[in-house]
Amino acid sequence: MANFSVAIDGPAGAGKSTLAKAAAKELGFVYVDTGAIYRTVGLAARRAGIARDDESGVNALLPELSVDIIYIDGVQHMLLGGEDVTDQIRTPEMSDYASNVSAMPAVRAYLMDMQRQMAEKYNVIMDGRDIGTVVLPHASLKVFLTAAVEKRAARRHLELREKGIDTSFEEVLTEMRVRDERDSNRAAAPLKAAEDAVILDTGDMTLEESIQALLALIRAERWEGATV
Ligand code: C5P
Repeated sequence: MANFSVAIDGPAGAGKSTLAKAAAKELGFVYVDTGAIYRTVGLAARRAGIARDDESGVNALLPELSVDIIYIDGVQHMLLGGEDVTDQIRTPEMSDYASNVSAMPAVRAYLMDMQRQMAEKYNVIMDGRDIGTVVLPHASLKVFLTAAVEKRAARRHLELREKGIDTSFEEVLTEMRVRDERDSNRAAAPLKAAEDAVILDTGDMTLEESIQALLALIRAERWEGATV
């Protein structure tokens, strides 16, 4: 039987990774965070001294890149040239690098196979910006997760502060608006809901309610007709 795949797309801070992780754990699926892959390419560019918007510089870097996804105790780790860079890619600077390099068509093409192979091997819940529209157009279920930008920024701000990263709400909001704008208006795989995606707005839901809503959608699709 073909694998079951759930594509979760949506803007930054909509809760994609938190929800996808929780649902994957509950269902025994593999969670694939595709943003982490773009972040790893961004880190490679920065380490090579390439400016975030230098497309020919980034393109020239791709053939010699070695990016791998591994799972340790069920948690996704990113390897760059064999080095575990899972923590280094989580800074605001790397968010910005990722957003820039991900707008480059050659970068997207380079990472496509890696993402598709994961869905061929496992039952996956994959999150990103173009999973339902480009990477897995035949996903078993597509969900577009969203919330108002102020709510997303407030959540991200709290998250950063909990991690001890000192930043203001306004800074986070501005950064998120810039990222939304760039992700939605780029020519290569812009952020948008697939025509057959279910829109899930988590703006007024608690985390637990959002997780349950996502699980209900998956279960309904997986066991069609079964009570959820
Ligand atoms: O999801 P995350 O914030 O980690 O993604 C970082 C950046 O990578 C996003 O702002 C987006 O520009 C890019 N991205 C993408 N396509 C994906 C996943 C992430 O373009 N499938």
